[in-house]
Amino acid sequence: MAIDLRSDTVTKPTAAMRTAMASAEVGDDVYGDDPSVNALEARVAALLGHEAGVFTPTGSLANQLGMRLHAKPGQEVATDLQAHVVRAELGAAAAFSGITSRTWDAPRGLLDVAQVREYVRPSAGPYLVSTTCVVVENTHNFGGGTIQPLENLIELRAFVDSVGIRLHLDGARLWNAHVVTGVPLATYGELFDSVSVCLSKGLGAPIGSVLVSSAANVSEARVWRKRYGAGMRQVGILAAAGTYAIDNHVARLADDHVRAARLAEACASAAPGVVEPSYVQTNIVPLDLTATTWDAATFAAAARERGVLVSVLGPRFVRLVTHLDVDDAGCALACEVLAALLGSAPN
Ligand SMILES: *Cc1c(COP(=O)(O)O)cnc(C)c1O
Repeated sequence: MAIDLRSDTVTKPTAAMRTAMASAEVGDDVYGDDPSVNALEARVAALLGHEAGVFTPTGSLANQLGMRLHAKPGQEVATDLQAHVVRAELGAAAAFSGITSRTWDAPRGLLDVAQVREYVRPSAGPYLVSTTCVVVENTHNFGGGTIQPLENLIELRAFVDSVGIRLHLDGARLWNAHVVTGVPLATYGELFDSVSVCLSKGLGAPIGSVLVSSAANVSEARVWRKRYGAGMRQVGILAAAGTYAIDNHVARLADDHVRAARLAEACASAAPGVVEPSYVQTNIVPLDLTATTWDAATFAAAARERGVLVSVLGPRFVRLVTHLDVDDAGCALACEVLAALLGSAPN
């Protein structure tokens, strides 16, 4: 079987997770009657230091519900130009909510509050677009799994408070940041007006995200979730997978981080310059093939032939992601295959 490093979304539910799903108590969640969903929403809200939560089928929807709480049509969300909300959610904020966006180049996706200060325009009146929301991604996916330092987040909170802008956290992989830094999830969560987290990435649930915020905000998000067609019925069967994942799969993310570090070391030794191992903080390894003669598609095809799947994210840019379904043996084999390819680049 191939070693699939394309994403941490490729994980399949374990036998124990399937058992938890099969025995979940369920009800009609649009009526608020699903005990497993209610328990998951309350659990995640408490973990992140918020009043309430709403379960969504995808992280994109959780982010979109969060942003629309903070920006009206014609207003602006500001973030970095590699952020998932502007790059990978297919224009949803514009298409569904009439929200425009402004972005800046943030190396490795790292938050720099000086850039936020430079680009946002709070209450700009009739002259310029008013920025009403800043989005932060932690960890930063296309930045290479980058963790946002807590002091930067605290500085950003103080700034947005001083100008009356709201803050949304795309915390799809906040679990990974928490496991590395030991910063409590609530310490991160309380710095934001809303937070989305994914259960379907490294945590290994088949589907699901949760958006948390104030009780009033979550009530409003629930209305929009239904309006978007994502009011779900006996969905406790999926919420149970999320609860199981939180109970059992958070601490083990550390193993994914160790394996990502091994991949980075192996690739960097074979082809110095493709990745800086000290930047690999979590489970994502970005490979910049401009240091070699490989292009990304040819490299990915050659790796696939040798049983290793990787993501092509740019003409010379490849991404590796470790997760629940890649063990030490799989990681070692991937290190061998990728190092051999990098060490024998085509002419
Ligand atoms: C995966 C991901 C999401 C949500 O993706 P869905 O596929 O919609 O669940 C959001 N933000 C980031 C940073 C992600 O990596």
